[in-house]
Amino acid sequence: MRSTLLLIFLAATISSSAAANAPPPDEPPALREIAARVDADALRATITQLVGFGTRHTLSDTVSKTRGIGAARRWVQSRFEAYAKDCGGCLEIVTPAQTVTGQRIPKPTEIVDVVAIQRGTSDPDRVIVITGHIDSRVTDVMDAKHDAPGANDDGSGTAAVLEAARVLSQHKFAATLVYGVLSGEEQGLYGGKVLAEYAKQHGWQVEADLNNDIVGNTHGQDGVIDNTIVRVFSEGTKSNETLEQAKYRRYHGGEVDSPSRNVARYLAELTDRYLTNFHVRLVYRTDRYGRGGDQVPFLEAGYPAVRLTEAHEDYTRQHQDLRTKDGIRYGDTIDGVDFAYLAQVTRLNVLAMAALASAPAPPRGVAIEGAVSSDTTIKWDAVAGAAGYRVRWRDTTAPEWQHSQWAGDATTATLKNIVADDSFFGVSAVSADGYASPVVFPGDAGRFDDNAKTH
Ligand SMILES: [Zn+2]
Repeated sequence: MRSTLLLIFLAATISSSAAANAPPPDEPPALREIAARVDADALRATITQLVGFGTRHTLSDTVSKTRGIGAARRWVQSRFEAYAKDCGGCLEIVTPAQTVTGQRIPKPTEIVDVVAIQRGTSDPDRVIVITGHIDSRVTDVMDAKHDAPGANDDGSGTAAVLEAARVLSQHKFAATLVYGVLSGEEQGLYGGKVLAEYAKQHGWQVEADLNNDIVGNTHGQDGVIDNTIVRVFSEGTKSNETLEQAKYRRYHGGEVDSPSRNVARYLAELTDRYLTNFHVRLVYRTDRYGRGGDQVPFLEAGYPAVRLTEAHEDYTRQHQDLRTKDGIRYGDTIDGVDFAYLAQVTRLNVLAMAALASAPAPPRGVAIEGAVSSDTTIKWDAVAGAAGYRVRWRDTTAPEWQHSQWAGDATTATLKNIVADDSFFGVSAVSADGYASPVVFPGDAGRFDDNAKTH
């Protein structure tokens, strides 16, 4: 009798320890439900309102109640305040500002960002940011007088930020979410710099900035009509990489595995899993050729950041005076925005923010060993809140992660008969309910935390 009881007890112990090492479910059900809340009509209402301010040029009127960037910013603030009221005060609204002059800002001008902060419940120093720029322009970048509707550039990104705030503020997350509506982009990426510096001053550990700029048009000037693809641009090597780090990386690899790049891959994987008839085209460069955006100041500050942009742009609609010439209608008007498409892009942002803020932090101290061996060992530091870790690897020429192995609740994994020479490796931390961090490539090239601190 006693021995039977003992056996039952032992069997229970073994099965519960096996369960602890099993991979969590890999599709947290909350994500699908959150994404479904994004509403194309809400996006349309926001852009209609923004266009109604005539121009939102950075040098335009800041006093008028109806026209110019001041009125537009105050309206955005009032929206954030309304969402804050609906979530029992879960959003704190701040307006980081700097007075600047520059090539495109002849007189000292105050650059004001309107930012809502949703503090994380257990990990408030970890921060996920979404940004879009509220300022608009016409042909002459100094023209602050004529109508510059900026429906797509970047009313679309601004609408995505507000809609993300509306939807996500109805939920609670471990990490902090920051919704940034930026100014001064067209005059020299000033608003991104203002927010990146604010982040530094406040000690935010920014794990990703998702910068949405020109995300609403589906009729390309190249003749292609495509409502199924969004481009995600990401830098290959870190903007703030030191010469020493570059030297190490050139020899050992890592030129296609910055944390920004692995955030971009994270977005692509979420899209494939959760969105129907929608895909990410990963673009392996920081921005469109010869152009820039507000993700750049984040990268320069050492924060992972990506840019989302529609797949096929129409340059007759960007930075143009409103006019008709040779039968072509120029200008960034609201009829050029495809709201069903913008809703899909917004869903991707919302999915990524919810997933990142629910997941454990990306692992630190990631390293591999495997020289002169037929096995590869990957190591990392334990992450608070992680139920386990997933090791990923791929061929050195493959653009996205191909292989995966659950490592359980450990800080090391050995891949048998996988030669370190022939693959790139990474690891992500996974929560008990299945939220995974982005994959972290070993060493300084891939680390998400401060690049300046070497191992
Ligand atoms: Zn723009």
